[in-house]
Amino acid sequence: MALHTVSSSAEDTFTMPLSERTLAKHRIPDVESDPRAVYQAIRAELLLDGNSSQNLATFCTTWSEDEVRRLMAESLDKNMIDKDEYPQTAEMESRCVHILADLWHSPARRDTVGCSTTGSSEACMLGGLALKRRWRQRREAEGGPADRPNLVAGPVQVCWEKFARYFDVELRQVPLEAGATGLRPGQLRRYVDENTIGVVAILGVTFTCDYEPVAEIAKELDAIQADTGLDVPLHVDAASGGFVAPFLHPDLTWDFAIDRVSSINTSGHKYGLSPLGVGWVVWRAADLLPDDLVFNVDYLGGSMPTFALNFSRPGGEVIAQYYNLLRLGRDGYRRVHQACAETARYLAERIAAMPQFALLYDGDGALPAVCYTLRQEQPFTLYDLSEQLRMRGWQVPTYPLPADRQDTVVQRVLVRHGVGRDEIALLADDIEHALGRLSSGTTRAPRQPGFHH
Ligand SMILES: *Cc1c(COP(=O)(O)O)cnc(C)c1O
Repeated sequence: MALHTVSSSAEDTFTMPLSERTLAKHRIPDVESDPRAVYQAIRAELLLDGNSSQNLATFCTTWSEDEVRRLMAESLDKNMIDKDEYPQTAEMESRCVHILADLWHSPARRDTVGCSTTGSSEACMLGGLALKRRWRQRREAEGGPADRPNLVAGPVQVCWEKFARYFDVELRQVPLEAGATGLRPGQLRRYVDENTIGVVAILGVTFTCDYEPVAEIAKELDAIQADTGLDVPLHVDAASGGFVAPFLHPDLTWDFAIDRVSSINTSGHKYGLSPLGVGWVVWRAADLLPDDLVFNVDYLGGSMPTFALNFSRPGGEVIAQYYNLLRLGRDGYRRVHQACAETARYLAERIAAMPQFALLYDGDGALPAVCYTLRQEQPFTLYDLSEQLRMRGWQVPTYPLPADRQDTVVQRVLVRHGVGRDEIALLADDIEHALGRLSSGTTRAPRQPGFHH
């Protein structure tokens, strides 16, 4: 008599036909398979991706509340572009835009325009396209040539390089000065001219996690205008900082409170805490978005202006963004990001206590993150350390800083909602253990049972 109940083969996905072969990789199969078997096979393969909560390289959301998951599942059929068919989804998008305009101190909230996008990359493209079109209109009005636009910025995320290449704009990247974590205002004068469509300031530099001094950059552009007559608009790439600074650094002046800031983008799916696939761009006032970039789509028998690179796009992320704004409020965002910032500072203290490292950014004053480099010549590189940490599942990126600091190789740890203090303490322990192995050259020694560090 059998002691255990064995599920019938019809229900055991591992003995279904699909599980007894390798999966199709180059040709669609001829026959159907049981959905449970396909689900199981795909799920098993995806485990090889690793564990996203140990992915300390990403700024993007890796943890969500159950209510967000439910709203996402229930919104699977919502198309963001179908404003007429899903008017309440469109309405929620519009509410988010106005909430962000208000959060970022727009002087003319009612007169503000903006939209959701797939992420900050698309949002930056739209911001850049508006700058370019406005510059061309200015040049044509002045009777000057309008064929050689340039954009001036410090160490930008790759999306601005894409913008420049895709839309034929020269990207004038201002090199990092020694010891700098971003653009310094005094550098600007040598780069802007009559063909500059705008300057991008970054609130949360990807490479170092520090904020660029937006107010000082604006002041320098004011001085340049006073001296030369050039009126260069400022776009703030607040992909990360747009959802951090208003809550953790409310006294910092960086947004529409500065007259020269004409547009701001952020990633809803980074510190906006929404699931992947949503970004935002907001203009200071409607007239900063040239009419001929706007397309009208049907909406409740009328028409609604849209500005986007995509047509169809999922609505769930936008709905989840509205959920997060309602759910958390200012207090909730502050609580969540404050906890991350304190954990980042805890890690910074642990790192500072390890003599091999020098901190570049200690998690204080900008993004909840830590950035560090090796203090002097060590018998190993930071790339070796990344590899050692990867053996425990941690994904900690190592990369050189941009020009002119390419000689500095750094490591960066981002602390996000869902990454707890204990997890970061375990990471710090693992860094210490790895340093011990790397310094003594014993990285290949087999682990002994019962061995204690
Ligand atoms: C992440 C990031 C981007 C790109 O944003 P996505 O939402 O990933 O498209 C652009 N700029 C900065 C500063 C970023 O950190």
